[in-house]
Amino acid sequence: MDVIRTKAALRARVAQWQAAGEAVALTPTMGAVHEGHLSLVRLGLERADRCVATIFVNPRQFGPNEDFTTYPRDEEGDLAKFRSAGCDAVYIPDPGQMYGTDYKTEVTVTDISDVMEGASRPGFFTGVATVVSKLLIQSLPDIAIFGEKDFQQLAVIRTMARDLDLPTEILGAPTVREADGLALSSRNAYLTPREREIAPSLHRAMIAAAESVRTGAAPHVAAEQAKRDVLAAGFQQVAYIDIRSQDTFAPAEALSENLRIFAAATLGSCRLIDNIAV
Ligand code: AMP
Repeated sequence: MDVIRTKAALRARVAQWQAAGEAVALTPTMGAVHEGHLSLVRLGLERADRCVATIFVNPRQFGPNEDFTTYPRDEEGDLAKFRSAGCDAVYIPDPGQMYGTDYKTEVTVTDISDVMEGASRPGFFTGVATVVSKLLIQSLPDIAIFGEKDFQQLAVIRTMARDLDLPTEILGAPTVREADGLALSSRNAYLTPREREIAPSLHRAMIAAAESVRTGAAPHVAAEQAKRDVLAAGFQQVAYIDIRSQDTFAPAEALSENLRIFAAATLGSCRLIDNIAV
């Protein structure tokens, strides 16, 4: 497995594989690798001949009061996990490869970036769309894979790639969960043992809300009940629990096709997000 640290070496390696007729998948991450990340690599290797993972904790997607400096970092451990999943290369950009001192350009996807994660984390999706555009342009892969765990992010990235005419196909991968339903996340490392017991109640409340919409409850009523359930379980704050179209993110008024329930809530120092199909 190659460890690549410059954009020139990344582009050359990918181009070399493509010149030999091999399709290349890219799986961007911020590291602190878990089974969710590795599932993206495995899907990449099913759909392409080579898979390149990236590790970059992107400062531009963190707000001033967020966890950029404390975000878990473990390069050695991450490399071992990517190697065992069969990655062909890992790109860990050296400082200066992503944002030079005179860096000025941002990528913003309008409209679908304005609600939910976009409303509760100003600038977040601009940071994500900017870094993912750069990673895709630096590597020019055939496909790039992102988790449905971050469903709105996946939609923002698909829209960005389409609108900027990037030559890469964007694929979504299903959310990997613990046995008790908690979606895997690098940030789960922040949970205390007591909080870890409470954490799956978010997914449970979402399942209950989805079930009540399927059996006739109004979506906003089911979502309000889910918020009460999550707070009663011990979460401190609910940023949102919304039932929306998974295509347009318009709020759902009644049961229809393609609805999803989206949630973000704070437990101790950990902000958890999740989504499931209704
Ligand atoms: P992150 O390192 O958290 O920025 O995530 C990198 C990629 O892994 C993103 O495309 C995420 O959506 C995806 N991902 C994170 N957690 C999971 C999970 N539990 N299941 C599937 N994909 C995930």
